[in-house]
Amino acid sequence: MSVLDKTATLLPDTAHVNGSGHLTIGGCDVVKLAAEFGTPLYIFDEATLRRTCAEFRDEFGQRYVDTLVIYAAKAFINRALAGIFKEEGLGMDVVSGGELSIAKSADLPMDKVYFHGNNKSREEIELAVGWGIGRIVVDNLYELSLVNDVAGKHKIKQDILLRLTPGIDVRTHQYITTGIIDSKFGLPIATGQAEEAVAIAMSASNLTLTGLHVHLGSLIFSVEPYQKAIEIVFQFAAEMKKKHGLTLHEFSPGGGFAIQYMRDTPAPNVAYYAKGIVDSIYSKSKELELNLPRLIVEPGRAIVGRAGVAIYRAGSVKEIPGIRKYVAVDGGMADNIRPALYGSKYEALVANKVNKNDTERVSIVGKFCESGDILVNDAHITRVVPGDIIAIPVSGAYCLSLASNYNASLKPAIVLVNDGKARLIRSRESYEDLMQRDVV
Ligand SMILES: *Cc1c(COP(=O)(O)O)cnc(C)c1O
Repeated sequence: MSVLDKTATLLPDTAHVNGSGHLTIGGCDVVKLAAEFGTPLYIFDEATLRRTCAEFRDEFGQRYVDTLVIYAAKAFINRALAGIFKEEGLGMDVVSGGELSIAKSADLPMDKVYFHGNNKSREEIELAVGWGIGRIVVDNLYELSLVNDVAGKHKIKQDILLRLTPGIDVRTHQYITTGIIDSKFGLPIATGQAEEAVAIAMSASNLTLTGLHVHLGSLIFSVEPYQKAIEIVFQFAAEMKKKHGLTLHEFSPGGGFAIQYMRDTPAPNVAYYAKGIVDSIYSKSKELELNLPRLIVEPGRAIVGRAGVAIYRAGSVKEIPGIRKYVAVDGGMADNIRPALYGSKYEALVANKVNKNDTERVSIVGKFCESGDILVNDAHITRVVPGDIIAIPVSGAYCLSLASNYNASLKPAIVLVNDGKARLIRSRESYEDLMQRDVV
């Protein structure tokens, strides 16, 4: 079995190996891209991006016509990607004025933009309301009055959703679980705060309470937590209908759909989540005699994760006999902090030796001044020599969006590949860029 076969479900759809034994993505030789654009380099495969968008649209849409898929921009966004999502008919979930500005610059229809976050500033809310944002997903009571106030000053009625905390632990990493009561996010149902928010929102002069939202966390491998959340939220909605006359026009179960990172950790497909979620909505609505709401699905990771591959050049190779072999690359925790932050695991392959067998166990480490700067602790890989090109699959989500300039490093270049063509969609930072806003 070739290295490519073993990583086929991790690499972008268009990954192949050419006659020189080089990895190709989108018809482009990765080794040549590394030479042309330099390393570290992030490659996004346009075909995979468009396929994942379509998959979410179709798998949910064919089971539940009134579905809107909105891409959770925090997984990674820039202007080129925003343009693709717009063409694919997706909306966007933004969590800051910055992400909102990127959506705006790509001319994304503002009625498909949803503004999330647990501490939106007045300035950000003003920007959003001024641009006619579709929905503000209100996280807490303080924000409820803030949004009402800003909407009042703009003489409009702002559509909002309430973000609820259903009290569900999805058993993912503690940093990415968000649906438990002890969370900084959302209005807990159990304490009565969610009901208080409904009552306030229903009587607020400049708010229209359009629906309810939950987001349970990220990398959720089972549909059960979603189903449990639907049960809890729909029960709550039925109660709020009786008590306060609430109509549930929209409902969102958030994002968090898992993807495969390792050869031996497969993830469910989109159809599995779609079926489980939609079935629950139908049965709960029927049981509780609620109208069927519009379904808002918010995938982030599952849209961009597999479409992105990180490319590094190997430098020093250090062997500690009987202990470990270290292969150091020219990037690391500044462009991908996930292993250091969450203990995330990745596979790696040598892009210029795809036909060679995996014969070694090595640690692939970055170049930054932290011992925790390890990209892959125990990579099964062919023998690496300095100058080899290392590819780390499934690097499209939460790498670049969490990137830093640690050690005054330069953030990587990004290319979009398709049909044998590579388009630079973000240039590598320069030393001038680094110092541009310094004032002496
Ligand atoms: C982060 C986030 C998402 C996306 O999560 P993924 O795990 O990337 O799919 C969706 N909705 C909300 C509210 C989020 O905070």
